[in-house]
Amino acid sequence: MSGEGDDGGREHRGSGGWETVLTDEAYAVTPGSEWRSELYRVASAQFTRAADAIGLPDDLRERLQEPRRSLVVNFPVRRDSGEVEEFTGYRVQHTLVMGPTKGGIRLAPGVSLGECAALAMWMTYKCALLGLPFGGAKGGVRCDPNRLSAGEIERLMRRYTAEISPIIGPDRDIGAPDMATGEREMSWIMDTYSQSVGQAVPEIVTGKPVVLGGTEGRRTATGMGVVFTIEAVLAHLEWEVAGKKVVVQGVGNVGATVALELQRRGAKIVGVADVAGGLHNDDGIDIEALLEHQAQNRFIRGFDGADEIGKTEVLEAPCDILVPAALECQITGENAGALDTKLVVEGANGPTTPEADAILSRRGIPVVPDILANSGGVTVSYYEWAQGVQREQWSADDVAERLELAMHDATKRVLAANNHSGDWRTAAFSIALERVAQASALRAIYP
Ligand code: NAD
Repeated sequence: MSGEGDDGGREHRGSGGWETVLTDEAYAVTPGSEWRSELYRVASAQFTRAADAIGLPDDLRERLQEPRRSLVVNFPVRRDSGEVEEFTGYRVQHTLVMGPTKGGIRLAPGVSLGECAALAMWMTYKCALLGLPFGGAKGGVRCDPNRLSAGEIERLMRRYTAEISPIIGPDRDIGAPDMATGEREMSWIMDTYSQSVGQAVPEIVTGKPVVLGGTEGRRTATGMGVVFTIEAVLAHLEWEVAGKKVVVQGVGNVGATVALELQRRGAKIVGVADVAGGLHNDDGIDIEALLEHQAQNRFIRGFDGADEIGKTEVLEAPCDILVPAALECQITGENAGALDTKLVVEGANGPTTPEADAILSRRGIPVVPDILANSGGVTVSYYEWAQGVQREQWSADDVAERLELAMHDATKRVLAANNHSGDWRTAAFSIALERVAQASALRAIYP
């Protein structure tokens, strides 16, 4: 969206649509600039490709791209030293037409309004692709979790929950784990919200421990979903999983499950990386031993069974399947030409920039997009929420079977929608966007 008018003025959202007015340069705000971030640029480019592909009417474009509701909060947290430090947190709800909103909460130094807006947009289309009754949301607190103690993180999570409580609720907006948050943080959010309303409200978050109303299978759901998607895509390509060389960037919740489960299916994990560095062994890395080493040493460096390599360099290691499962914008215009893989499967959200997409497409390397590949997490989150609302507890087998069916079905729909161009991202986005556009048009404009 361009903000500059030809005459040096600014576009202005007037009653009759967009018009250009002269404004004081110091106070001028470019429409849409609230969300400006690299990740929002990436998400918007993907959205636009899908909107063009399905011929989305102009009046729906802005409505289905920009978030409906955003909250920015500043709040104090007492450090262990006794000093008080100020933190900034966000919660962005992308669309309110599909049901309650749903999305993770992350702790990371780069968390911003624009990043949350992009991630919330992806959540909307991920839920729509899987047919889940949610709109997308995302939130987080800008901080370096590696420099905070457990007590400090607890106080931060509880205060953040209290700050965003005006816009969350089990039927309004439901949280979930994301980068650097897990069962422990979800327990604190659930407790804080429950204390404020005077009764236990387990459905306020998903990804809780089972004893607090969590579901079997949520911890590994995103990684298992990636694996089920890989199985379905490989079946389509008439490839075997066994014997394939795989590189996984990120050995956290998502990456560790993907590496372990693909190895159990006979694949060879030849490269891995975490925030502190990467490892490479063309004969395969013993992932069970690696995860034990990581549990004892926090990071994977120092593991005996592989050579050290850079955490980004690992993306260029020769393999059949590359799974970026760490963070966004890792495959870019700079390194896409150097990838030595036959297939990219996005475990992380937004790991591939539009420039990289174009290069990979030219090189004939297909990309299984994040909104499909990592949607197992929100799918099992939906199962958890549904069990909570109905006061039910499903078995681990029940959850796993439903997830496998859901992932195989969604993958088949994306592959079937895309016989011509080989662009699975636009195919997935288009299916999802059509669904949200239809709902939005049917609900029409209030009042
Ligand atoms: P996590 O915090 O559990 O793990 C992240 C991993 O990435 C860690 O091993 C970390 O060391 C590594 N990492 C961080 N920065 C890195 C860098 N610069 N280079 C290499 N490795 C780096 O997080 P997670 O929950 O596994 O999430 C990973 C990605 O998957 C994120 O993009 C997240 O949004 C996405 N995702 C997570 C879920 C979920 O259920 N957890 C669901 C959908 C999508």
